[in-house]
Amino acid sequence: MTSFTPPDFDLTVLEEGLCAQDFIEQKMKDSEDAVFVADLGDVLQKHLRWVCAMPRVTPFYAVKCNDCHPVVMTLATLGTGFDCASKTEIQLVQSLGVDPSRIIYANPCKQMSHMKYASAHGVQMMTFDSEGELMKVARCYENPKLVLRIAVNDAGSMFAMSNKFGAKLESCPLLLEQARELGLDVIGVSFHVGSGCTDPEAYSQAISDARRVFDMGAELGYNMTLLDIGGGFPGSDGSKLKFEEFTAVINPALDKHFPAHSGVRVIAEPGRYYVSSAYTLAVNIIAKKVKIEEQMACDDEGEGPNKRTLMYYVNDGIYGSFLDVLFGARYMPSLHKKPKPDKRTYPCSIWGQTCDGLDRIVEQCILPDLQVGEWLLFHNMGAYTVTCSTTFNGFQKPDIHHVISRSAWQRIQQISAQGLPAPVEESCPSRTLSCCSKETSQPSTTFKAASRL
Ligand SMILES: *Cc1c(COP(=O)(O)O)cnc(C)c1O
Repeated sequence: MTSFTPPDFDLTVLEEGLCAQDFIEQKMKDSEDAVFVADLGDVLQKHLRWVCAMPRVTPFYAVKCNDCHPVVMTLATLGTGFDCASKTEIQLVQSLGVDPSRIIYANPCKQMSHMKYASAHGVQMMTFDSEGELMKVARCYENPKLVLRIAVNDAGSMFAMSNKFGAKLESCPLLLEQARELGLDVIGVSFHVGSGCTDPEAYSQAISDARRVFDMGAELGYNMTLLDIGGGFPGSDGSKLKFEEFTAVINPALDKHFPAHSGVRVIAEPGRYYVSSAYTLAVNIIAKKVKIEEQMACDDEGEGPNKRTLMYYVNDGIYGSFLDVLFGARYMPSLHKKPKPDKRTYPCSIWGQTCDGLDRIVEQCILPDLQVGEWLLFHNMGAYTVTCSTTFNGFQKPDIHHVISRSAWQRIQQISAQGLPAPVEESCPSRTLSCCSKETSQPSTTFKAASRL
């Protein structure tokens, strides 16, 4: 048995009329430290939207994207499965009472001791993409249910994966044969089109490729029953394409290559989709410089003959919540307070707090002349932020406050008790449970939630 116990976590149920925005306002008054506020109602909303848009596909949330316990607990309560890549992720998910049948060990290249742990704890589904991994599995795994990860075209994604993972189609017959010789059961096929995918066609091509591998398996006597369409779905409606623009392509591809009567179970491994938009980060301006550049051309933004640009230094950065910037992600701040309509704006850059010259969050944006002590907000900050940040230079990670409206809280309890009915009008995304209108303001209750929501 594991000695891992989940730490308690704070969760604030907001009273009628209060929303995450109000909560963050309060936190900004309490301290000048950078702070996250996460609205779990937004995670619920995403789940309802998923069920509505892709009812055939069971989500297995990718824990690496954001492993905050309230998030994982919310999804566990809503009945999703989980994609875990390490012993610690498996421990976390199981410590919240999730049955091993709801876990896929979706790391094609696993450390042997982690594998033994997974095997001893009943996790059967796992991915592989090489002969070497099959040999390891055969040596140390009880009853594995293998899923062959194939390489797919991920050119249209922000973060590619197929240069590291995935078997080429040509090598699949040999891998399947090797698995059979080792007496291993291959139950299906998985792929990942790359995180932050911008091309829905990548999914339909990959689904058609997966079909070919199913057919190869059938020739070798396998009866595969699982298709795993991975992650890559957009995390906010600010993305180039909306989630539903992906599902509008994926659903027909599934119906064509894996029709419902084929009996194939379809799962996915969304990470970014579920958490990105739930998190807002508030950062404080801790220092500021005015840079006067010699005027190049006539420019009405500048003052007189010289151009003013402002450099803001804030208390988070690429060694903290903005690691993605190094990989090409772009962020834009929002103002905390509405500027006066006549307020002048300037070209600005935003820098992190460490002593590293690379630590720049925003290369250029347009902001008014803000003062040290004022705040900037960054939205859609839930994906690959809290799990990727460091304490480089001794700067602590921002506190994270998880909040939920009472109605969303009740809805989660209800879904947990009764399950979700087949998608109907009521479960569609137009119903908003995550935020509020400002009327009353009763105090909210924060409490420790132990092992169950
Ligand atoms: C990271 C990862 C995911 C999640 O990807 P998103 O783009 O965040 O949806 C899913 N599956 C695997 C195997 C991953 O490595």
